[in-house]
Amino acid sequence: MSRYVKVKTFLLLSFFALSPVYAQKTLVFTREEKVKSYMEEFVSQGFKESQAKIYTAIQQCLRLIPEEAYKKITDRTFPVIFTEMPHFGGGRWANSSGVYVMPNDPPTFTKGIWIVKLNTQLNETQDVEEIEGIIFHELAHRVLDHVAGAFDIDKEKQANRLVKKWGFERQFLKAKSSFGTHGKRMASASPLLTLNKRSSIIKNL
Ligand SMILES: [Zn+2]
Repeated sequence: MSRYVKVKTFLLLSFFALSPVYAQKTLVFTREEKVKSYMEEFVSQGFKESQAKIYTAIQQCLRLIPEEAYKKITDRTFPVIFTEMPHFGGGRWANSSGVYVMPNDPPTFTKGIWIVKLNTQLNETQDVEEIEGIIFHELAHRVLDHVAGAFDIDKEKQANRLVKKWGFERQFLKAKSSFGTHGKRMASASPLLTLNKRSSIIKNL
């Protein structure tokens, strides 16, 4: 290799090493990549196997939610965990979910855990956006730091306002028409569900 070629090669390599574009390509993950990795860690894989619509709805919410909210809900020191609440079978009486931290994982759960429990019957809905409306509502509670407690209509309204502010009014309205207090699915719910209406996750929309 001639001296000229060597110098040229060196300059070319230096350019790429210093280029911010190159650095970005190696260090920054796209939202799509982050969502995929997050879901493998913090979303029950049972959804993937048995409730594909619920799994897709979670994925869509994580893809679309504004960046600031995304960072908060996926902060692994206080992450949102998505797990299923079985509607039929023995699991509806009692079930467990496990989330494992691996030896090389960064600090996880050091500030807490926020668990979003989704009834598996949601999977029977025709339109995935109905489920997305419900999930956005629950994520809004997390972003607003609403601690669990007695039903609070003001907190419900705040969560709904935030979902609309994020730009998801369409999903919100679909969830409301199906699962709101006077929604079509609430009207045809089983007696057990009707009894539990006061604790409905999307009451008083
Ligand atoms: Zn709520």
